[in-house]
Amino acid sequence: MERVSFVIDDAVASIIRAPLVTPFRIATGQHDELENVFFRLRTSDGICGYGEAAVATHITGETVAATLTNLQAAAAALKGRKIDVPEEVCREFSPTFAGNHAGLAAFEMALLDLASRVKGIPFYKLFTPVASKEPLLAFNTDITIVIGSLDEARAAARQYAEQGFKAFKIKIGKDEELDLNRVLAVREIAPDSELILDANMGFNTSRMLAFLEQLDRKGVRPVLLEQPVPKHDWDALAAITAALAGSGTLVCADESVGSLADARRAIDSNAVSAINIKFMKSGILESAEIARLASSLGIPLMLGAMMESALAITASAHFAAGLGCFDFMDIDTTFFIKGELAHSPYLDDSGRFDLHNAGVGIGVELHFE
Ligand SMILES: [Mg+2]
Repeated sequence: MERVSFVIDDAVASIIRAPLVTPFRIATGQHDELENVFFRLRTSDGICGYGEAAVATHITGETVAATLTNLQAAAAALKGRKIDVPEEVCREFSPTFAGNHAGLAAFEMALLDLASRVKGIPFYKLFTPVASKEPLLAFNTDITIVIGSLDEARAAARQYAEQGFKAFKIKIGKDEELDLNRVLAVREIAPDSELILDANMGFNTSRMLAFLEQLDRKGVRPVLLEQPVPKHDWDALAAITAALAGSGTLVCADESVGSLADARRAIDSNAVSAINIKFMKSGILESAEIARLASSLGIPLMLGAMMESALAITASAHFAAGLGCFDFMDIDTTFFIKGELAHSPYLDDSGRFDLHNAGVGIGVELHFE
């Protein structure tokens, strides 16, 4: 990253809440509202950069309170600081967010947003494409069908198919028979769409393979299966990956891979055939390292998100656009949020992001004190 000099005049961290359209239910828990920690940096010239920490306590164990405390400490340490190489400052502060990757993501997001605004470039231009790739400025996200009743799955699938979504990610892992019927219902409603299943650790090896076998008998084959088993059960992951080799269904680590070290382990042990990267699991710079490693070894990548508002979701879209190496986009959470925080300037109702005419920075501003 090139040098860009500015002085941080003001820094503030604050909690912002927003209601959801519907509870976001997965096998291990649910979000009933958005309650994220936002971070704003301002230069002496009045230019602002914004960051967001989406805390998913039921997934990562991180808390909103600790995230706020960490970001407030970072804010105090940054005031009056002259920045020359933002990336170096991110690395310097990284240890202060140990065990709080959502906080680190917000810190990096705000600093990099500010750097791109000072330079007068879109956020995605901070990220050079991975080897052999080009920037990818337009793409579609999938849409999530959350855990719920069969009627809820049908209604959601109908609505999203009507909006133009072509890829459906169905949450499973709570009630196998119901899950099976929900998947079949989505297939029927959107027969030409791509199906992704996310078990959020809700199965074991034999039950997972039996579940897929039942779908197979109905002619339904998901393109990707996310995190079928508990995150530390590498043997079970590897067994499912081996069983599904050549089947057309990729096995993707989500909860199992939160760091570059996890990614190396997953790849070296052939535990999975794809990896889901999220800012909130790894921060932004380490996410880029994971992407470069996996991509260099031909491992397909998904870009995912926690319950992130338009700020972090749009930052993720820029990241995917700049690196150009993501095969599966799962950055759909703005469709679950009500109000201003749901509005990304580069995303339409069908889930299409288009950054061809992106302005400076991430492109999302928030007002808070
Ligand atoms: Mg997942």
